[in-house]
Amino acid sequence: MTDMPPTLHVSTHPAVAHKLGILRDEATEPKKFREVVRELSWLLGYEALADARLRPLTIRTPLEEMEAAELSDRIGLVPILRAGLGMVDAMLELMPTAQVWHLGLFRDERTLLPVEYYNKLPDSATVDLCLILDPMLATGGSAIAAIDVLKRWGAIRIKLVNLIAAPEGVRAVAEAHPDVAIHSAALDRQLNDRGYIMPGLGDAGDRQFGTGGA
Ligand code: URA
Repeated sequence: MTDMPPTLHVSTHPAVAHKLGILRDEATEPKKFREVVRELSWLLGYEALADARLRPLTIRTPLEEMEAAELSDRIGLVPILRAGLGMVDAMLELMPTAQVWHLGLFRDERTLLPVEYYNKLPDSATVDLCLILDPMLATGGSAIAAIDVLKRWGAIRIKLVNLIAAPEGVRAVAEAHPDVAIHSAALDRQLNDRGYIMPGLGDAGDRQFGTGGA
């Protein structure tokens, strides 16, 4: 797709493409699905942190003293409930000192608009870089609402980490927040009339938590 904004970064790593195929497959059971969400989140988090800031750190190897580095950015992980929860553990493995702030937004099935029902952010921003975690970037409504909340809170550097993005959602986020980078494992074709990403993977929350019904 050629008309996508420069803020979109779609992973080109073969391991990501391989794992995404497993995730999309309707035969993949919730246990395996959660495992692959976790693995993909790790890989995407790794890519999203490519420009995280470092500060020098003097250490001693067994042979001599040297100037090493440590992450200096204080990182906040903001999983969008509930589907974003499955992305948190992998991100915490990458960034063990990250803070986790939960944000509850659900999509009104009728209007497709986001409704905020849970917000555990402290009074003011205490991190340098916020990563919003949500497996699916569909209409962009929840992502824009989450970014609005974080900016009101005082967050300056914000990135969105998704597993699958729809062009409609990417365009909406880029228009509302051109300063927010979007990292995704894939860019799919389009949304259907129920707001699902095509070909997508179905409902990311249901598939993780086994709540999709028969
Ligand atoms: N949310 C999902 O879980 N799946 C979609 O396809 C779109 C939004």
